[in-house]
Amino acid sequence: MVAEPRNVVVLGSTGSIGGNALEVVAASRGDLRLLAISAHSRLAEAARQCRRYRPRWLIATDAQAAASFDRRSLPRETELLVGEDALEETVRRAEVDVVVSAIVGSAGLRGSWAALDAGKHVALANKETLVIAGPLVMELARRRSATLVPVDSEHNAVFQALQTGDREDLHRIILTASGGPFLKMPREQLRHVTVDQALRHPTWDMGPNITIDSATMLNKALEIIEARWLFDVPSAQIEVVIHPQSIVHSMVEFKDGSVIAQMSPPDMKLPIYYALMFPRRAASAARRMDWTQTHTLTFEPVDPERFPALALGHEVAEQGGTSGAALNAAKEKAVQLFLDGELAFHEIVSGCRDVLENHTFDRSPTIERLMQVDAWARQEVHRWTMAS
Ligand code: NAD
Ligand code: MG
Repeated sequence: MVAEPRNVVVLGSTGSIGGNALEVVAASRGDLRLLAISAHSRLAEAARQCRRYRPRWLIATDAQAAASFDRRSLPRETELLVGEDALEETVRRAEVDVVVSAIVGSAGLRGSWAALDAGKHVALANKETLVIAGPLVMELARRRSATLVPVDSEHNAVFQALQTGDREDLHRIILTASGGPFLKMPREQLRHVTVDQALRHPTWDMGPNITIDSATMLNKALEIIEARWLFDVPSAQIEVVIHPQSIVHSMVEFKDGSVIAQMSPPDMKLPIYYALMFPRRAASAARRMDWTQTHTLTFEPVDPERFPALALGHEVAEQGGTSGAALNAAKEKAVQLFLDGELAFHEIVSGCRDVLENHTFDRSPTIERLMQVDAWARQEVHRWTMAS
């Protein structure tokens, strides 16, 4: 029997994950059908995507950008919708089957939340959704019987590896990390790292924020927190190992000592396709391993002094409550200040710790409280950097 195509909404289509998701949908040979896309400020690029992929709706979340946008650049079958309410309404529509949550930062939480609340199948790239509000998000997904499949390559690997055994037999999760561009740089030089250097990732081609986060390892800190809530595993059972080749995307170890790894070349099209198609597998357009070549895979422990961000990730994963929202917002603001040349590279992580330690902790916050903490933490980084 041929299955009906799944109707897909791609939130954040003009981003790195969003663009890959559009290609994956187009290459799916009828398994997936594009229904809507959302973009923030780069609407000319979104219009080009509409002409190529012909969605029914384009949602422009930045009203100011939408006001100066020439609607005549859209194909006849695409209707323009404006604003975050329109995004939420579209995600909740009955004809939507799958939502790719690929907006960057805390701005992505609203779309993930609406999709889960409507009981949709969600391919989650926006890790911030879980970093900020993990317990509330997982509870919502359960209550609404929504399907939540991670796109983040490490979590997608763990999700796949977990299918091979019983949850009660899980011993630990091992997240792999490439180590980013500064794995071997002498530590005193880290103080003088430029924006250009930090934007040059050795193995992955990603958006600017996550690329900087990979250089500081704050990305891995967020991923520890993401794994903690997604898989309901205590922080102490989540480890990080450096694997510079980015071929093994992560591993799970069962209590008998068996380690199950998921491998593939570093290409986000594979985890995106897996997340969209789950529980089915289908032939994908992602790059494949070339077994006619010799591959050397190496694993080494992380130097906690070089990468103090990891300890921060473990602490926040253990604390829960408002800590994830505080860390994430501080990080977003600090990265923006670094990209703008207003903050030194090594101050990103120390700034995050400062904000985290100064925040008023609340163990069981509401979503509204988490949003307040988010706004507070951004202000706090700014104040802190001006004082330094
Ligand atoms: P990106 O910067 O390339 O793209 C971000 C997208 O979000 C764009 O479409 C942009 O229009 C939209 N956007 C930005 N601000 C917005 C706002 N305020 N409101 C609505 N939309 C907004 O980012 P990316 O690298 O594609 O990452 C997207 C998400 O996926 C992030 O959460 C990231 O951590 C996660 N992720 C990315 C990768 C990767 O390979 N790029 C891997 C794993 C996880
Ligand atoms: Mg990742």
